[in-house]
Amino acid sequence: MSEFTVGGLQIDRIAEFGGPFPLQDFLIGLPKGAFDQEADWLGPDYFDKASGLVILSSHSWVIRTRHHKVLIDTCVGNHKPRPIPAFNQIETPYIARLAAVGLSPDDIDFVMCTHLHFDHVGWNTRLENGRWVPTFSNARYVFGSREFENIQALAFSPDPHGEGIIYNDSILPVVESGQMVLAEDGYALDDNLVMEASPGHTPGHMVIRAKGQGKTGLFAGDVIHHPLQAKYPDVNTMFCADPELASATRRRYLGECADHGHLLIPAHLGAPHYGRISRDGDAFRFHPGHE
Ligand SMILES: [Zn+2]
Repeated sequence: MSEFTVGGLQIDRIAEFGGPFPLQDFLIGLPKGAFDQEADWLGPDYFDKASGLVILSSHSWVIRTRHHKVLIDTCVGNHKPRPIPAFNQIETPYIARLAAVGLSPDDIDFVMCTHLHFDHVGWNTRLENGRWVPTFSNARYVFGSREFENIQALAFSPDPHGEGIIYNDSILPVVESGQMVLAEDGYALDDNLVMEASPGHTPGHMVIRAKGQGKTGLFAGDVIHHPLQAKYPDVNTMFCADPELASATRRRYLGECADHGHLLIPAHLGAPHYGRISRDGDAFRFHPGHE
């Protein structure tokens, strides 16, 4: 049995890790005391009152359409050298958790990355005899073409800020194996899944729109990181590349969810990890889960 469905499509979550995160000033420009003010509806799934830390999650989504098994975003990955200590050389039973929903890596037909930050591409590859090889050997890996050009440019810039490492261990092996597919805005994987341009967090960020039986779920990646951004839609994270564009994109998707009842399924929300949206004046309200 799957975790939930969107219009008949089975959806499962593959957890990597989650909990309170020591990310100082993670949400930029949030009014002082906002977390404490909203603690009643936020906690304990979205805010750890005791420590004052924000709750975040790292997970992938698996969608089973009539034709394909599709993995969306691939977390941080095992054994990867990363500059942030909490993400450096981690080891989690991610593949066992995939097995727990009845899938082996070879069963995955498509991997779709909303964008190419390190926490969305990690399990693209795994370490085998000292080499990074594609984890999902039968899959095509779909990346937004603008996003790929951007990480390539950063990786080969004189001051790559770590993108060179990410490119080499999590992207390049997929390019070399011939498994990469580059997608433009509107790329349709099958009659259920479409990738669409949603720039701001990164220049080439893509939302994956899942449709079935008149229902829609939006796999929104990092368009929104935390439920508090429904109330404060113009508040971005320290990781959003173009703050103004990130806000505009967030407002566009929150508005669409509110007006059409779409399910919002981002990459980092605490449990239950997805929700619905309603309008509240010029801002929005987040409603965890289906209701
Ligand atoms: Zn992310």
